[in-house]
Amino acid sequence: MRTPVIAGNWKLFKTIGEATGMVNDLKPLVAAAKGTEIVVAPPFTALSRVADALAGSNVHLAAQDCYWEEEGAFTGEVAPKMLKDVGCSHVIIGHSERRQYFGETDATVNKKVKAAINAGLTAIVCVGETLAEREANKTFAVIESQVRGGLEGLPPEALSKVIIAYEPVWAIGTGKTASDAQAQEVHAFIRNLMARCFDQGSADGMRILYGGSVKPDNVKGLMTQPDIDGALVGGASLKAESFAAIANFA
Ligand code: PEP
Repeated sequence: MRTPVIAGNWKLFKTIGEATGMVNDLKPLVAAAKGTEIVVAPPFTALSRVADALAGSNVHLAAQDCYWEEEGAFTGEVAPKMLKDVGCSHVIIGHSERRQYFGETDATVNKKVKAAINAGLTAIVCVGETLAEREANKTFAVIESQVRGGLEGLPPEALSKVIIAYEPVWAIGTGKTASDAQAQEVHAFIRNLMARCFDQGSADGMRILYGGSVKPDNVKGLMTQPDIDGALVGGASLKAESFAAIANFA
């Protein structure tokens, strides 16, 4: 059985006070969701204080990105071991906004995934097609090259530290969710691809999340699909009540 994951990506939102206030509200609301891996990804500036606020709770801490070098003259970057040091267990890598606005490629995603795993973090690797690619029937080709490129060279045993998030770009922040069947189709494709690239056991054990306008009222339908193991949530993760309602889907 795969442990479901509900992860909240706060993007460029929340001061330290807002972030700690949010998790203090969230903790009691999700305390009973023991069977679910609950993760929040605040901005870098709030990680340390949110880590303190989460101590002893069942909510895990993620960063929204990392660099691939351990240290050096790389102004502005943050190393995976620094994220581990501040209390992160997870890191989001290759979000479509990073691909779109910050030049992230499958090659940089791949270096970041390897560095994150080496530092002991779980990498939440985002993939997803644009609307134009979907309309041109290129969804599977795009997903295949992003998954292959992002995970290239990883040994099968490293996959226990990888979570894939399928996030169709046309569904992120738009209020348009992929239908349960559309999402399931791509998730099944990804699991199958993992079996071909690695092995069946690793593919069966891997968590694949859906992301794109997940809300309290659509999470249940998505979670009943056999290959959907959780959600990466943007907008609805910013308020304790709505994120808790999603995390308590079961
Ligand atoms: C995201 O940013 O990963 C995301 C899925 O955003 P939203 O839930 O707002 O569509």
